[in-house]
Amino acid sequence: MKIHNAAAVIFLLFLIGCAEKKPVDRMTDEELQVYADKLAHKFIITDGHVDLPERLKGIKFTEDSINVVMSSKKGEFDFVRAKKGGLTAPFMSIYVPSSYQKEADFGKAYADSLINWVDLIAKKLPDHFALALTPADVQANINNGKISLPKGMENGAPIGNDLKNVKYFYDRGVRYITLTHSQNNQICDSSGDTAKWNGLSPFGRQVVEEMNRVGIMVDISHVDDSTFYQVMKLAKAPCIASHSSCRYFSPTTRRDMTDDMIIALGKNDGVVAVNFYTAFIDSTVANYQSKSRKQIEAILSEKKLTAQDPLAGALIAQYRKDHPRPTVDIERVVDHIDHIKTLAGIEHVAFGSDFDGVDGMLPEGLTDASMYPNLIYHLLKRGYTENDIEKICYKNFFRVWNKVEEVAKNSK
Ligand SMILES: [Zn+2]
Repeated sequence: MKIHNAAAVIFLLFLIGCAEKKPVDRMTDEELQVYADKLAHKFIITDGHVDLPERLKGIKFTEDSINVVMSSKKGEFDFVRAKKGGLTAPFMSIYVPSSYQKEADFGKAYADSLINWVDLIAKKLPDHFALALTPADVQANINNGKISLPKGMENGAPIGNDLKNVKYFYDRGVRYITLTHSQNNQICDSSGDTAKWNGLSPFGRQVVEEMNRVGIMVDISHVDDSTFYQVMKLAKAPCIASHSSCRYFSPTTRRDMTDDMIIALGKNDGVVAVNFYTAFIDSTVANYQSKSRKQIEAILSEKKLTAQDPLAGALIAQYRKDHPRPTVDIERVVDHIDHIKTLAGIEHVAFGSDFDGVDGMLPEGLTDASMYPNLIYHLLKRGYTENDIEKICYKNFFRVWNKVEEVAKNSK
């Protein structure tokens, strides 16, 4: 009997082994989906940019309201959906709008309030979330079944005119800083503004050097092309684009990266985390956005209304009904990943969804944090190997994060 049982176990293991070794191109569609879901949960998944703090900033924490972080019908990120999608290391965006640059403290108090907020999530929901200062922290948190909440600050304005604030934000757990947002600031020119510094300001050059010295990743999303090239020359460590896509697919989106910039970031050993926002990844949506903005403005001005007027809401809703926004399929995101892989190599691409920050304008099949398995399924269909997918999911981002820490350690 014992011999029979042992033989049965060996045969079963043989069958499992065969099932695992079945080539992707011979899998049924259902098998491929199961395989993609398995990979999404086998690998760490980093996401360069999630705007949860911005979406929930007005909410006061109570025993009830804390549940929106666990599960919500609004937005795209919460614990339940992230867990389902295998998302284990979403960078929480400390987003400081350009308007704060005019404040006396350059938005430092505001940035602190969002940082406090992320810290509070980890404190109030310790069985589900934990802070993370290094890739090793992320791994330790996963071993305890927790989703990590690393922090990235979107806009360097709160550094003000004091370089010591770079270390201040490092000590508060910020591990990347996007040099600016949609307008020029004291650090550099933005892709959304007209040239002021022709790239980095003299102070901005010091900020980049200080970020390298302290160990904060330099994020070039949102910056002007001139800023980008100056950062590439100056940086002593690899840089990231925390949430940027390819201008190749949306030529009017200056916020996206040109082919030449993607190649340059690859040479810097950096990483482009692809943004999923449909207006950044597809020119039909970008064109629709600019055309509809003008047409809505014309409709409102004819009626002498401002966008805030209660009557304006109904007119805008009617316009949207008459002129539906073009839809974009998840495959478009894979096109961007393919493009970066072709230009810079598989080592230089990652995910940077912009979930909770794009008014729901996301591709079909990738509309919230539960859908990473679907993205992996489409990567498998395009011929990406398990090793390739592991790099995109976290290895590329972790390589940069670790290297930036290492460069900082060596400079002390
Ligand atoms: Zn952004």
